Formats: sequence, C-alpha cells, structure tokens
Amino acid sequence: MTTLLNELIEKLKTNVKGHVVLPDDPNYDEVRQIWNARIDRRPAVIVQCTQADDVARAIAFAQENKLEISIRGGGHNVAGTAVCDNGVMIDLSMMKNVRIDAEKRRAYVEAGATLGDFDSAAQVHGLATPSGNVSETGIAGLTLGGGFGWLSRKYGMTIDNLVSAGVVTADGNKIQASETENADLFWAIRGGGGNFGVVTEFEFKLHPVGPEILAGLIAFPFSQAKQILTQYRKFVESAPDELTVWVLFCKAPPLPFLPENVHGKEVVLLPVFYVGDIAEGEKQIEPLGRFGDAYGEQIGVHPYVEWQQAFNAMLSHGARYYWKSHNLTELRDEVLDTIVNFADKLPLPQCVISLILVDGAPSRVPANATAYYHRDVKFLLNTDGRWEDVAQDEIGIQWSRAFFQATAPYASAGSYVNFMTEEEGDRVAAVYGANYDRLVQIKKRYDPDNIFHLNQNIKPQS
Ligand code: FAD
Repeated sequence: MTTLLNELIEKLKTNVKGHVVLPDDPNYDEVRQIWNARIDRRPAVIVQCTQADDVARAIAFAQENKLEISIRGGGHNVAGTAVCDNGVMIDLSMMKNVRIDAEKRRAYVEAGATLGDFDSAAQVHGLATPSGNVSETGIAGLTLGGGFGWLSRKYGMTIDNLVSAGVVTADGNKIQASETENADLFWAIRGGGGNFGVVTEFEFKLHPVGPEILAGLIAFPFSQAKQILTQYRKFVESAPDELTVWVLFCKAPPLPFLPENVHGKEVVLLPVFYVGDIAEGEKQIEPLGRFGDAYGEQIGVHPYVEWQQAFNAMLSHGARYYWKSHNLTELRDEVLDTIVNFADKLPLPQCVISLILVDGAPSRVPANATAYYHRDVKFLLNTDGRWEDVAQDEIGIQWSRAFFQATAPYASAGSYVNFMTEEEGDRVAAVYGANYDRLVQIKKRYDPDNIFHLNQNIKPQS
C-alpha cells in the first residue's frame, strides 16, 4: 500500500464513527467472513459503519482511490457479493437498531439488522412484516431483492410493505426514497437489489401476527414422493392465504418425531405455517396428513419468533453453499417426475431440494408496480446445495447445475434475484422482464459510473 493510501486510510479512520478494519488487524478474518464459506475474499479496507455519514465517507474513499465497493447487510447472499477482493467493503452489520411505532404500525429498521432483530422487536407488540425463513438473514439484502416468507401469501412480499428508505447515493448524498420522494428510486430499490445506492434505514408497514402461530412439519416416506406432490399441487390451488405449505426433499434429520431407522434416509417434509385463528388453522392443515402414510408430524402452536428460527440449523453460517433456482407458474407432471428422480439421489447428506409456495398477495400486485417483475410466479424451485468439505465442491455444484438444467424446460421466465449465484449475471435482464429498461434508466441517473456493481448488476447502458 502506498504512503498516500496509508495517509488516506488514517484520515478515513478519523472521519468515521465506526471502525476501519485492515488486513493486519486481528479481527480482519472474522469481519470479512460471510455466511457462505465457499466465498473467501480479502477486501483492502473494511468500513464498519455506524451511521449514514460513515457510508458516505466510505463511498468517497473508495472513489478517490479507485477501489471497488461491496455492500454487506447480513452477509447471507449465496453469491457472496457482500465481500470483495482488494476493494472497500461497506459493512453495515453494526447498524442494527430497530424502532417500532406500534400505534402507527410502522417499523424503522437499520440496514445491518437481521430478520431476527426485526421480528423480536416487532413481536413485543404482536406485530410483524413478511420476511424470510431464517432469522440470521439480513433484512437489507432480502428486502432489496424482494423478500418472501411465511407471511407473504397473506401480507405480500417484504417490498410490498416497504414505506420508505434512507439511501446514500453514489455521489454521497443522503436522500429519502418513498412514493412521494425520489419515487423512481423507491420503485427501483423494491426488487432491484443494491444497484442504486446504500440503504441505511428501511421503514416498513406492520401487521398483527401471533404472537403465537400454528406451524410445524409433516414427514412422509420418500417412496410416496410423487403421490405427495400430486396431492400438494391440488391442495394449494384452493388453500387460503393464511396457510403456507412448502415441500422439502432431504435426508431426514434426527427429528424426535421421526423413527430412528428413518434418520439419514430420503424423506419428503412438508413445513406448514398458518397465520390467524388457531382452530381454523387446525382445520385447514388437517388434510395434509392424509397425503400419504406419514411417518409422523410435529405441528403445534409456537411463538412466531421461534418458528422464524426453525430452519436456522439447516442453513447455518459457515458451511459451503451453492444454489440454483427456477420460477414456476405451474407444476407440470414432468417437473414433478424430475424432482422425484433427483431427490432420490441427493449427492451429499445436507443437500436439499425445496419447493416454495409464493402465490397469494404477491401475485395481486401489478408487475410494473415495483422493480420485482415476475408476479405471476406461484412456486420457487431450488436446489439448496450444502456441504462442509472443500473437496466436495464439485459434487455439490455439479448436482445443483444438473437439476437446474433438467427442470429448465418446465420453468417460467426469470429467477428470484436473491437466490442467484455468482456466475448468473446473464440472467439479470430476464429477472426484471419488461421492467429492465426502466431500471437501466434509473441506474444511469443514480449510479452512472456503476460504482455499485458487485451485485446482480444492472448496467447503466442497455
Ligand atoms: P448480503 O450478502 O449482506 O448482501 C447481498 C447484497 O445485497 C449485497 O451484495 C448488496 O448488493 C445488497 N445489499 C445488502 N445490503 C445493502 C444495503 N444496505 N444497501 C444496498 N445494497 C445492499 N430470501 C427470501 O426472500 N426468503 C427467504 O426465506 C430466504 N431465506 C434465506 C435463508 C438463508 C439461510 C439465506 C442465506 C438466504 C435466504 N434468502 C431468502 C435469500 C436472501 O434474501 C438473500 O441472500 C439476501 O441477499 C440476504 O441479505 P443480506 O443482507 O444478508 O445479504
């Protein structure tokens, strides 16, 4: 590093309220590490911001020194775009404040908060906003890409509940984005990811939720997989928005309600969630157990916050991950057969195929209302490749890609940007469909030099 750069770093250290972390610092490795251990990058400078002014200074520092910028919210993006090699990592993980205005049903959430930080603050008042299914995920990246979770069928995507956001733009300005202020930017950040600036705070609508909800798992033998899927397809056609059911194909974890001889064998798991009256929920859920000869089920009344953590262990920090995801507007017989074929041969013990139901309130929002375009999607079909040993990278990655290719003929257009891996830049235009050209225009206006390009990048020229 040149003397000049050293001097500028010293100045940066003095100017920011947060911390500047450098490769020689003892906590450097801890701070640069993100959820996906497959991603191992070394930023030149990490700025742990504590306020919007820190963010503006970090952006200016990067530009003065012609360094790339990556933005870290919760560090959970599978593509690992939160961290860069030799650039400036703007780390928001110290900005975790969540303020709830219970009377107005509004939440003000700093961009380093996790879903867990947000949920626990809102649930004190019996309130919540739809988000994801693992509480350690960052609210920032999740929101900016769209955001689906257990409450989405009833209350929409996370972006459908966004009221405003504080943004630091490429030129260092701190501005608000909402329906009435910088409305084009507000439109773009609802699905367009981190392309347009660094969001420092989100304002969300809140809804009465729980605090207790009905949720749990039903497990079926893998031999009945096709029958379960066929019945599932029919059932969800008329399921109320309060009820969300996903399908997971995995090797059975040692869950207490599963017979021991099933542990480690392929099973079909139905995670089930009902928001609303518990007795009505029990009635709605009851037919699911008759899809086949269930090994068992563990459905009960849980605090919403607890259910939001139910999948944390399955997707914990520090393993190696590679995902592939399709949008589906229908479940054709052929796709069900392909799922069953692949789920029969999960290559590694922690690999999962998941079918995620997203139809409901999200689909009732017009495709051009926000940057998130594919509102007609009913399911997301994912391979959640996960393993621990670097020597297994090729096995996990090739399996994910093979499943993705085999199911591609039955998928609909685009993809969910938050599930895309690092080499899928060529899919970005398809993600945004007819909204893409407008996003390019907004990118030109707010980030003409594309300084925010370490993401699923929308380039300022078409
Ligand atoms: P980070 O890796 O910190 O950030 C990802 C990218 O978002 C950054 O590179 C940057 O481009 C952008 N970004 C982040 N913060 C900011 C900011 N403040 N300003 C501007 N840009 C920013 N998604 C769902 O919708 N539903 C789910 O149920 C769900 N479950 C998940 C479970 C797990 C275990 C994981 C790992 C992911 C899950 N996701 C889910 C996907 C999730 O939405 C994305 O991974 C998302 O990017 C995570 O946000 P983050 O802040 O943790 O990511």
